[in-house]
Amino acid sequence: MNNNLGYNSLWNGFEKVLCLTLEGEIERQRSATKELCNIGLDKFQFFQGVKNNDQRIVKIYEQNNVFSFPPCFRCGEQKCNCDNNILIPSQVACFLSFLDIFEFAINSPFNTFLVAEDDIQVKHFNEKVLREVLNIEVLRELSFFNSEIPCLLSMGSPEPVKVYRELYWEKNKQNPSNYLFGFNKSFAKLAKDEFKKINTTSDVFIHRVLASKAISYSLSSHIATDYSWCSETIRSLIHPKRGYVTQLKDSNKKLIELKKYQEHIQKAIYVPYWISGIPRGGTKWASVIAHTFGIDIGHEELKSHGISSWMYIDNPFIKAPFCKDKYSENPFYIYSQKKILIVRPLLKGLGSQIIENEKNIQSYSFRKKIIQKNLNFDLDKIYCPLGKAIFSIICWYLIIYKNSFKIVVRIGDHEKLKEAFSTKENRFPIKKNEDLDFLYKDVNSGKKYLGRSYLKQDFTSEEIIDYIKNMPNNLSNCFNNFKEGLSSEIRDILFENLN
Ligand SMILES: [Zn+2]
Repeated sequence: MNNNLGYNSLWNGFEKVLCLTLEGEIERQRSATKELCNIGLDKFQFFQGVKNNDQRIVKIYEQNNVFSFPPCFRCGEQKCNCDNNILIPSQVACFLSFLDIFEFAINSPFNTFLVAEDDIQVKHFNEKVLREVLNIEVLRELSFFNSEIPCLLSMGSPEPVKVYRELYWEKNKQNPSNYLFGFNKSFAKLAKDEFKKINTTSDVFIHRVLASKAISYSLSSHIATDYSWCSETIRSLIHPKRGYVTQLKDSNKKLIELKKYQEHIQKAIYVPYWISGIPRGGTKWASVIAHTFGIDIGHEELKSHGISSWMYIDNPFIKAPFCKDKYSENPFYIYSQKKILIVRPLLKGLGSQIIENEKNIQSYSFRKKIIQKNLNFDLDKIYCPLGKAIFSIICWYLIIYKNSFKIVVRIGDHEKLKEAFSTKENRFPIKKNEDLDFLYKDVNSGKKYLGRSYLKQDFTSEEIIDYIKNMPNNLSNCFNNFKEGLSSEIRDILFENLN
């Protein structure tokens, strides 16, 4: 008889054995099949988890059901040294996958379950010693078969597996062990009842939060770990690992994985200043002024003191179309207490906004998508370029203002900007005002689109007042609602000379 078939009975205490995987993860599935069958777990079935771009993940972020930064979800501090201080979509996906497993358990006819992850690594397997702790009598004593008592059995650890010559169950150790763990139906029900919001990673939720409300045991020495974190020989689906890239032989694969590793974000960045506004609305000017004060704020690029970019996104799924580094591409991971909004008067900004809407197609489609999502308003339904420009400006200011950009500075007002930058420690030596005024005129003029510059149209106050007055009713209602949503400070600048 093949040895590992003889191991089958070792696992009789578990009626259902599941291995969490994702569709298409063939390499991991092959590895898991080998690991599990080798120890007699050939009755397992794959359980399809949730992918990190699944609509359910998008929704859960939109509904604010993911713990938001700051503070760090791990240590609770505003600024800390944790490698991962913000919950990213793959962590949320993993969390939902385990909730799905508990839901499956509740709806199944079975009472006891064993779960493994598809990158599980089992080493120094010792059937004899394991029989001592996995036999039915021992599990019964632990209340594992009790339908009233939630019970959790942890068998894994992120540390390498060591040789074990004896094993026993230790109570309330609460070791994170998604790699391999057993639970009963009552525990699955506890998970369903206790889940309100994603406040941490799935292993902390299962093995700390839920474990503290259940009876939990950990093996005195763990029998499983994983390949992706512990030995880095399988690609990690949460945080890419340097070690995995290094051990790859195929140079093409290596390049692809290296890029993933370099572009991965697992930490939200805390910067002193974050400046935003509309396109062609003064964000470049603000970054230039900052530099004259010795403050390092990048234009559409994250620098040591912050970033100035009109591309604001409050979720991790949409990327900024124009950016110079991974943070300016994913502004969701930037945080600042000083959020400055540069406002350009409508009358002055309309001409360049019309050009931006028509000649910068990526910029327009990006804003259109976000405006539609946030304000349920479709810019494409306005056919007149002037109307489209008015709405694209007012909607964009509204979205940014609603996202706490509350320090308002009129474009060109470097004195006010200086005030916004100032802190007790930071008093800036100001150059002659003439120099700074000159910068305002210089930075934004003559922007080229695909190498061409366009002449912008100028409007008179009367033309704009007339246009706004004669808008069709439905547009007029939207316009007034959006206008009302802004602060009076923003309105005063935006509608300067239009009252
Ligand atoms: Zn922390």
